Amino acid sequence: MRTCPCPKCGTLKTKLAPRNGVTDRLLGSLTIYPFRCQLCTHRFTTFLGKLKPNPRRNYDRVSVQYPAEVRPIHDPSQRVVVEGILSNLSLRGCRVRTNQRIPMGCQVMLEFHPAEYDDPIMVDGAIVRSRCAEGIGLRFSSFLRSEERRLSRILALRLPDHAI
Ligand SMILES: [Zn+2]
Repeated sequence: MRTCPCPKCGTLKTKLAPRNGVTDRLLGSLTIYPFRCQLCTHRFTTFLGKLKPNPRRNYDRVSVQYPAEVRPIHDPSQRVVVEGILSNLSLRGCRVRTNQRIPMGCQVMLEFHPAEYDDPIMVDGAIVRSRCAEGIGLRFSSFLRSEERRLSRILALRLPDHAI
């Protein structure tokens, strides 16, 4: 089976990335496809020699069960805390199961408690991108580099090596 290592960090945790724009379409007709490293976010192209469907997501999410707290950034009282369970996770987003309400587009801070570490992981900036009966979807927008590295180590343990 063939895998596609990341040219920047060397991991095999890479996946086919969505094709955008004219260049990607032209390259795609030659089966040269974009890939996204799941651990360092590097995007690169590789010749595959076989046709592949265009995927929707840049990042695979891994299933987890971590206690999480979400706080709106622009909350004058600084007392609103949405508590829930982080149910899936990638380098760029997550889903939080909760029955508390929080509006679409709301900018938040996220703190969660992975089983792998004693200290929680903090995401300074995230935005509410989806809502459903079970909870909310967040997209991460800003991170301390050290926190991103800790998150990357969790994903390294849990993501599959994609064969292509
Ligand atoms: Zn990489």
